[in-house]
Amino acid sequence: MQAHKSYKRIRNIYDPLSTTPFKISRSKLDLFLKCPRCFYIDRRLGIGHPECFPYTLNNAVDELLKKEFDTYRSQQKPHPLFIENNIDAVPFDHPDIDKWRDSLHHGIQYLVPNTNINLTGGIDDILLNQNNDLIIIADYKATSTKNEISLTNRESYKRQMEIYQWLFRKNGFNVSNTGYFVYCNGKKDANGFDKQLQFDISLLSYTGDDSWVDLAVIKAYECLQSDTIPSHCDECDYCQYVKAISEVLQG
Ligand code: SF4
Repeated sequence: MQAHKSYKRIRNIYDPLSTTPFKISRSKLDLFLKCPRCFYIDRRLGIGHPECFPYTLNNAVDELLKKEFDTYRSQQKPHPLFIENNIDAVPFDHPDIDKWRDSLHHGIQYLVPNTNINLTGGIDDILLNQNNDLIIIADYKATSTKNEISLTNRESYKRQMEIYQWLFRKNGFNVSNTGYFVYCNGKKDANGFDKQLQFDISLLSYTGDDSWVDLAVIKAYECLQSDTIPSHCDECDYCQYVKAISEVLQG
């Protein structure tokens, strides 16, 4: 039988008395924006939200796209998708590209002044417009839908792009406001599987505005410094579920 995971962590817990830099990933900052209570319980009290199923197929698409873009990076040629879309950019050839992609151990980082928050983000790719020397953030997404691919109701994706733009700006890069989502859509209209999943691939542009990020990080820092647990959000039912169970068990 599979052993149950312990939800109580003993590492990576924020200590409000310590001044040692503490890593907060861009996904944890997003968690703070969605539900400060969940963020606090995770980062300050050491109990993470139950995870969804691992996105193994998405990770496979990410890996293959990275290899494909790396081929064009080594040749300093534009990827055909960018040529098709008349976008003048080549994969950015920078010695830190693999570090920036390594969300687990490094990523792009910035120690936020007047806090001990070291904000980190693991990017999928960066391109360079050689005409104006602006770097362009690219993020790979995989899905399977018959609906038109769009960024409608994808606020979390937009925030992700803006946090990456903010992180690179804070690291001294000139960053284009326009970023791109490389969207791979698994096709369901083939006659059979035959050990192959075909994808349509499209490029969605997004013009980011990262002006909100500074304040969001300061608010997340204040939340971690506080001894008061924030109240829960209205968008998620887990807390109500746990409360209902406790009430039933207590009779
Ligand atoms: S409402 Fe949901 S997201 Fe918020 S603390 Fe409860 S479980 Fe976490």
